[in-house]
Amino acid sequence: MSTIEENYIRIDQRISNACHNSGVERAHVRLLAVSKTKPASMVRECYNLGQRSFGENYLQDALGKMPELADLTDIEWHFIGPLQSNKTRSVAEHFHWMETLERDRIATRLNDQRPASMPALNVLIQVNISEEEQKSGVMPADVAALAQLVNNLPRLCLRGLMCIPEDTDNQERLRDQFRRMQLLLEEMQQRQPLDYPNARLDTLSMGMSGDLELAIAEGSTQVRIGTDIFGARDYHP
Ligand SMILES: *Cc1c(COP(=O)(O)O)cnc(C)c1O
Repeated sequence: MSTIEENYIRIDQRISNACHNSGVERAHVRLLAVSKTKPASMVRECYNLGQRSFGENYLQDALGKMPELADLTDIEWHFIGPLQSNKTRSVAEHFHWMETLERDRIATRLNDQRPASMPALNVLIQVNISEEEQKSGVMPADVAALAQLVNNLPRLCLRGLMCIPEDTDNQERLRDQFRRMQLLLEEMQQRQPLDYPNARLDTLSMGMSGDLELAIAEGSTQVRIGTDIFGARDYHP
């Protein structure tokens, strides 16, 4: 068995156990394989194990490997990095999901640039749930305004929220942040018929290798795992 296969089986087992312990269906939680900085050959190997959703942070890195994988027609690319407004076109043209939306201007540009031949771009709003200065994401109090804007952009489909919690080992602080994310999404779901009629609010992207059990216990529907599948990253473009 290859290392990627062993890793993949192990992480899948961890997710299954976490779902079991939290009383949620395994199908409720998607694994996003974070392949940033890793070559197309590794993505293909993981795809061949059954994985379909891949996360990328760096545009040039992602665009470089996509042509080699063009034969994998049901692969799903998620952009999960910071995005400058002059780089939105590549995301609009090559990705299925944009998980790190935090600005109006990025939303309108993605909407304008999404090709008519493609389905609407799935969007998650990144929330700065720990309300740390200097941290990416919109403050919890500002989520509704951005969600309203995305709801009104026809080439975007608002699917939910994403966060990177505080970098801490304190389990209770992490749990509190995950819990507040779930509450934020629930609030939006309750207001959906009136406030977000075009949205499909089914996704809460939270939980990484160190905290996926906690995230799933608090309602995550997508965990993002890189190193524990593909190994340590040896460069950082
Ligand atoms: C890199 C990254 C991950 C995965 O991190 P690993 O430590 O490699 O598992 C998850 N989410 C985001 C937003 C990332 O940038």
